[in-house]
Amino acid sequence: MSKLKTLLEYQTVDIGLRRALLEIEKHPDKENLAKTKQAFEDAKRALTSAEEEATRHVEFFDEAQREVPPLLKEAAALSEKLEKTPDTSIDERIALTKQLEDIKERLSKFESRLADKKSKGQRAVQKFLQAQQQGVKLKDDYGKIKAKFDDYQKAAEPKIIAAKTKLAELKKNVDGQLLEKYLALIASNKFPPVVEAKSTDGGKSYSCTGCGLALSHSSKAQVLDCGNSQCDNDNCKRMIYLVK
Ligand SMILES: [Zn+2]
Repeated sequence: MSKLKTLLEYQTVDIGLRRALLEIEKHPDKENLAKTKQAFEDAKRALTSAEEEATRHVEFFDEAQREVPPLLKEAAALSEKLEKTPDTSIDERIALTKQLEDIKERLSKFESRLADKKSKGQRAVQKFLQAQQQGVKLKDDYGKIKAKFDDYQKAAEPKIIAAKTKLAELKKNVDGQLLEKYLALIASNKFPPVVEAKSTDGGKSYSCTGCGLALSHSSKAQVLDCGNSQCDNDNCKRMIYLVK
């Protein structure tokens, strides 16, 4: 029992430490930090994509600036030719009118694309500004949550350091084999790994307080005899002790 007693002391401190570390790990602010960071990354991506979109629209304006003036000039020249040379042949006039219509069609396409690009460009600029504002706000939010969380962690630190020191001290006296078993149970999520055997019928039968299963005849005999045993449930296998 004394080996087990040392292990039980170790378990008390160990479980306390694990609980304290888990509390930090699962703290809502930690999740908030991750969420805010993600939202910031999203805003950054939205900013880049809005910028790229606006650039594409601007590129079209450049193209229109290059293409439209020569077309206008050509249309004016064709109109003038049609007006000032009435004696040209019918065939030639038909050809000139056709050319003029083609140019007008190209110009009208530019016009409608320009209107479309203008509204899309305005929307892209709006999206850009929104993402920029959101990014600034999220960065500010992140800083505030981080400062709060850092304070919380700092306050919890002494308790954790003390538990770690105590645990290292206790570990020196824990039986190696028992510790190995203990750690294997921890690794398979059995909390706590060492539990008491309880009887509700005045000692006729005992059960594991980890999983609730009644001890087999031999395990009961062992726990009564040596004060410790192991749960018979293959999914539990916790170390069991009996306070005599
Ligand atoms: Zn059990």
